[in-house]
Amino acid sequence: MEYATLGRTGLRVSKLGFGASPLGNEFGEADPAEGERAVHCAIDLGINYFDVAPYYGRTLAETRLGAALEGRRDKVVLATKCGRYDVDGFDFSAARIRLSIDESLQRLRTDYLDVFLAHDIEFADARQVVEEAIPTMRELQQEGKARFIGITGLQLNMLRRVAERIGAEAAPVDAILSYCRYNLLITDMDDLLTPFVQRHGIGLINASPLHMGLLTAGGPPSWHPATAEVKEMGRRLVQFCWQLGIRASDLALQFCLQHPDVATTLAGMSTVEHVRQNVAAATGSVDAALIVEVRTLISPFANRIWPTGRPENQDYAS
Ligand code: NAD
Repeated sequence: MEYATLGRTGLRVSKLGFGASPLGNEFGEADPAEGERAVHCAIDLGINYFDVAPYYGRTLAETRLGAALEGRRDKVVLATKCGRYDVDGFDFSAARIRLSIDESLQRLRTDYLDVFLAHDIEFADARQVVEEAIPTMRELQQEGKARFIGITGLQLNMLRRVAERIGAEAAPVDAILSYCRYNLLITDMDDLLTPFVQRHGIGLINASPLHMGLLTAGGPPSWHPATAEVKEMGRRLVQFCWQLGIRASDLALQFCLQHPDVATTLAGMSTVEHVRQNVAAATGSVDAALIVEVRTLISPFANRIWPTGRPENQDYAS
């Protein structure tokens, strides 16, 4: 496993990170015992970055991850989030964030987080994030409950705008997590966000390398927001790879892991089989020519996202 430093935090993180939302049944029913084995297997194979949120399974993912990490907390860089609690349940107030971190610490069976992120901020009022949420998170950092803080979301201009408005500090936030904006199907993270984080020394975390399951043999979950034609493109890509005797998920991960500025790429996992496959892909040799061929095949359907969050926070007019 390769490791990289997350921005200026000094945290050394595995280039392949463990996304724990599937532990909360976000992609179908996960077997809790198998989920625990998957976490242990990931640590044994060198994965040290674990990402979760109270939102995933409405606290279930944190509870399961906390149980699985019992006795191994010191082996991992642990990140969770605040501000999102349900599909339409958001609260970025100071009081809720203070309560949220204490609840998360209890579920995760630890007394500190390595990374604490404001979750899906495009659903928030930018001003509240800048003036209330982030300052509260910085206070919690001072109090020793979180070592570093950051923001997450789909809408990249919003992430950048918020970080820019936080002001004159060397790194206005320590880390930014972007999802579904850099993978085989889409690369506009590099236009809208990567130069900004590079300039400010902010740690860059890229989530959903499999486009939330769309680039896997299992296909996307029923709630997946991509259009029917993008889903069809994903299905054709999986088929194309299958005919060549390779897994689309391997290729998709390898594409993401080659990004030089991303510290860790988070794949959602809840089984030992997926952990083993993904670690093997992450550490195996890459067929660069095939990646170019696949990206050409995909190009008519590339760089498409969907609206999420408040109207004023959208990257593209719909
Ligand atoms: P993903 O692209 O990692 O896809 C996950 C899906 O792919 C799941 O169904 C999983 O079972 C399946 N999968 C994983 N490995 C596989 C393999 N080898 N073969 C076949 N199927 C495989 O999407 P994701 O889970 O949404 O993203 C990864 C993580 O990033 C999340 O779990 C979460 O921790 C984080 N994330 C954060 C945000 C945010 O903060 N706003 C948004 C999205 C994701």
